[in-house]
Amino acid sequence: MLNIVLFGPPGAGKGTQSQKIINKFNLVHISTGDILRKAISEKTPMGIEAQKLIDDGNYVTDEMAIAIIKEELDRHKNTNGFIFDGFPRTKYQAETFPKLLSEYGGDVNVMISLEVEEKNLINRLINRAKDSGRPDDRKEEIIQKRIGIYNDRTVLVSDYYKTLGKHQSINGDGEIDVIFEEICETIERFNKI
Ligand code: ADP
Repeated sequence: MLNIVLFGPPGAGKGTQSQKIINKFNLVHISTGDILRKAISEKTPMGIEAQKLIDDGNYVTDEMAIAIIKEELDRHKNTNGFIFDGFPRTKYQAETFPKLLSEYGGDVNVMISLEVEEKNLINRLINRAKDSGRPDDRKEEIIQKRIGIYNDRTVLVSDYYKTLGKHQSINGDGEIDVIFEEICETIERFNKI
């Protein structure tokens, strides 16, 4: 199994790169954010609980994020592997993840961190809101809050993978295809280990 965690702040390009990665490596994409947005649009009980938190720029609970991952792992038992986009996002999620994944016979091969300058993130998200209509991208104040929460609660998750020797930073300020090339090289390198 090949399991990749794609990491980076809001607007780093995780969704864009995930699409390219799943096509090339034949992986299943699990984006907790996409699943939550679908639940919100379908007004499921989880969606109703998540909506206000997300619109205000807050995280959903760890229990909710972990429940989403469990369900997706169950749904794709015979896959080549996964790309995790938006998970793990807190220390608790990172600590729970290995046990969860090992129940499905897997382990994380590498965390790839897309590094993007903060001013570029804000511009990208404001532009994205014009097409996506995502309420959490519409106001600069909410974007700043999400970046703040990312810095407070999520950046430290990368330290966990650094300690394990399973971390690679990639400059996310550049051409989509150049970034993708670097991601592919990294995946191939860690797939052999
Ligand atoms: P971003 O563009 O900020 O990376 P995502 O599309 O990954 O956003 O997620 C959108 C929102 O969904 C987040 O701001 C957060 O509220 C919620 N969310 C997604 N994944 C998680 C998670 N693992 N833990 C807690 N909240 C999450």
